[in-house]
Amino acid sequence: MSAVVVLDHPLVQHKLTLLRDKDTSTAGFRRIAREIALLMGYEVMRSLPLEMVQVETPLETMSAPQLAGKKLCFVSILRAGNGILDGMLDLVPGARVGHIGLYRDPHTLVPVEYYLKLPDDIGERIVIVVDPMLATGHSAAAAVGRLKQAGATQIRFACLIAAPEGVKAFQEEHPDVPIFTCAVDRQLDDHGYIRPGLGDAGDRLYGTK
Ligand code: URA
Repeated sequence: MSAVVVLDHPLVQHKLTLLRDKDTSTAGFRRIAREIALLMGYEVMRSLPLEMVQVETPLETMSAPQLAGKKLCFVSILRAGNGILDGMLDLVPGARVGHIGLYRDPHTLVPVEYYLKLPDDIGERIVIVVDPMLATGHSAAAAVGRLKQAGATQIRFACLIAAPEGVKAFQEEHPDVPIFTCAVDRQLDDHGYIRPGLGDAGDRLYGTK
């Protein structure tokens, strides 16, 4: 079974509480989500491989670590994933970025892909998929399935809040993909919202409600 890493850093937890607050403004929500994403990125990327290179300091040559392999690829699940993407890019500005758009068919409830743009060489990159809410887990699982089809083999998933139901569904489909989250909340409600959660992350990021 894949790992679930809950980011219990006090700064992350404090900022998550601000996000949950219904009175946090759209601008505040966007800013705080970006700040949390940056802090999450630090943890999600903790185990990135390093290689030793020669570097010349002003005084002498030394062997020093640098990130090994091709640049990372962040993949944002549209649209709310973009609210996390910005913070990750603050940390790794040279990363490649993919986007995947999925909507839920109202009759079958199956996620349907409407947009996909990925780097051609995604199979050679470590991929970090971002979406603020792991609710039913169906969109995240479908997105990761699509990335695997495209050749990705080293995938991590990062969200702000997960529902236990979403974690279970995701893990069943992708036992090889670790989940990084700031919290696992109580439950999913009948409308697919995470409780207590923070409401609709997309609407809160973009002020659409
Ligand atoms: N998506 C959201 O934005 N919020 C939820 O609570 C569940 C899914």
